Amino acid sequence: MFEKILIANRGEIALRIQRACREMGIKTVAVHSQADADAKYVKLADESVCIGPPPSAQSYLNIPAIISAAEVTDAEAIHPGYGFLSENADFAERVEKSGFVFIGPRPETIRLMGDKVSAKITMKKAGVPCVPGSDGPLPESPEEIKAIVRAIGYPVIIKAAAGGGGRGMRVVHTEAALSNAVIITRNEAQAAFGNPTVYAEKYLENPRHIEFQVLADEHRNAIYLGERECSMQRRHQKILEEAPALGLPPRLRDRIGIRCVDACRRIGYRGVGTFEFLFERNEFYFIEMNTRLQVEHPVTEAVTGIDLVQAQIRVAAGEKLTIRQRDVVLKGHAIECRINAEDPYKLTPSAGRITQYHAPGGPGIRVDSHIYHNYLVPSHYDSMIGKVIAYGENREQAIARMRIALSEMVIEGIRTNTPLHLDLLSDAAFLAGGTSIHYLEQKLANYNKSG
Ligand code: ADP
Repeated sequence: MFEKILIANRGEIALRIQRACREMGIKTVAVHSQADADAKYVKLADESVCIGPPPSAQSYLNIPAIISAAEVTDAEAIHPGYGFLSENADFAERVEKSGFVFIGPRPETIRLMGDKVSAKITMKKAGVPCVPGSDGPLPESPEEIKAIVRAIGYPVIIKAAAGGGGRGMRVVHTEAALSNAVIITRNEAQAAFGNPTVYAEKYLENPRHIEFQVLADEHRNAIYLGERECSMQRRHQKILEEAPALGLPPRLRDRIGIRCVDACRRIGYRGVGTFEFLFERNEFYFIEMNTRLQVEHPVTEAVTGIDLVQAQIRVAAGEKLTIRQRDVVLKGHAIECRINAEDPYKLTPSAGRITQYHAPGGPGIRVDSHIYHNYLVPSHYDSMIGKVIAYGENREQAIARMRIALSEMVIEGIRTNTPLHLDLLSDAAFLAGGTSIHYLEQKLANYNKSG
């Protein structure tokens, strides 16, 4: 096992990874920007290195600074967390070429699955059902594009092959709007991801987002750890996740899970990963694979009893999986609420100093957060400041516990989306379950209309 791991991330996930390392007796190196010098996980780490000024481009995305930090501290492996460099194949390659272990899949796998076009082609070959679409990048010629889209049928969604974080997507309802939408999405994709490739797929009108967690070692062992329901989204970004997905027949879960595992073996996958699907009329359609730990991994940990971060570190060290598929038993229900520093309804970010903080607790409650009383939420990064996870014997109990937890939690000095979560937790459609990915957007639109 590794003696020392460098954690190339910040915020709650830096703390989460650090806790896993400490439990495993592994020393940690925290890297941080100047804006995060006072962070709790920086103080708690065995060593820390400042890697640059506040903007991410100069710190958390600064590959040479991170590699040098690993060199000067003698770390053996680098954990990228999620976001930032976690799905950057060039980074993974640089890490390995510099003699460190990248805690994640091989760079070739990241490259293959990071391009959504090549990912879909690969998955189709592996027998994973995909959203019908252009089966490759859209060509230059507007006439050819029109023909391709006509064959798919309107509405379609134009998506950036290199897209992520809910950006680089545009829905098109009519042929008149098509050419323009392709040009705008291409330009956005070039600006945001440095790659103008776009593709088209059928826009599903009322799907749920359901994703499968996988775990694979270097020895061709792979298992799936059930699914997560992530349909509560705003701006294509998840805010509340659950495991398992309500009403999913066990046989269907197993059928899709087995396909995902087969695909992992086929591509020589290593580490934790997530196959994201849209689910409509009892059919699954693959949209993309995330080759890293997900924000919402705790709900899977709660219902399987498996520590995904520790498992990820073990397989990165070359160990064989000790859990077999038949050992994976889903028990109870878990819900995660992402706590964002933002206006709950207008979604505008709300950075600043936290003047009062009381964390919730009690049976079945887990709080993953790096914030504390008097913590200054920097304005440079993602608005998520923590996650509350509630576990119960069933969905009703998990929801009841989450309601109590969120009503106990106090965060003052900044705005958070806690009121929106509380609202959702007593929303009739949410309680009934099975709402589509558009539900929250519609709810927010109604709020903002009625002021
Ligand atoms: P990203 O990598 O940016 O997260 P995804 O491909 O995972 O992008 O899509 C994010 C979200 O966008 C999905 O969860 C879903 O809400 C919506 N979406 C993506 N593709 C489609 C589609 N074909 N039809 C309807 N909604 C879609």
